Amino acid sequence: MSIICSPDARVEYSNIVADAGIKTLNTCDCNDACYKCLQHFRNQMYHDILNRFEAMDLLAQLQGSIYKEHEIPAQVKNFTKSHPAEKTESIAEEKFLSVLGAHGFSMPTNVQYRVELNNGNYTVADFAWAKKRILIYVDGTSSNLHGNPQTALQDTRKRTMLKMQGWNVIEISYQALDDEQALALKLEELNIYLSI
Ligand SMILES: [Zn+2]
Repeated sequence: MSIICSPDARVEYSNIVADAGIKTLNTCDCNDACYKCLQHFRNQMYHDILNRFEAMDLLAQLQGSIYKEHEIPAQVKNFTKSHPAEKTESIAEEKFLSVLGAHGFSMPTNVQYRVELNNGNYTVADFAWAKKRILIYVDGTSSNLHGNPQTALQDTRKRTMLKMQGWNVIEISYQALDDEQALALKLEELNIYLSI
């Protein structure tokens, strides 16, 4: 479906977009850019060139020139994982990254980090600070409560082996991401590992 707006609607629409952007950028309190305004884990390769004041200038220039040509589907994220549990997994991972950013933590240096186990097996951590030997597992579902007991047992074995091999392992459940107290404990643990 293609919708070409009338000139009036076009201006109105562009103002909504640009005004909202400018407002967000203007109310931030950082120097150039931070995780509250422009920065995100996914654009970390551009972090040193992001600047909220330049972004505001750009948005101001765009005012009046943006218009709605067609509907954009509501789903903006294109998940490569298709299983519902894995979808929850992705959301949990994104959420964990934004929690890190919001609390001023440095971003993980590795994503989907594979570690060989001494028994010939391997495990893939969702995130890692490999040099600090920190592994993060974000569980989309509470495997202890609802998951496959066999898988939960395997996970426990693997993670115990990791600890024996000198890895600092932090497991965060999806529920913990919404539980301020549980989350605070996990972040404190991470903070200690990162500061060693
Ligand atoms: Zn900022």
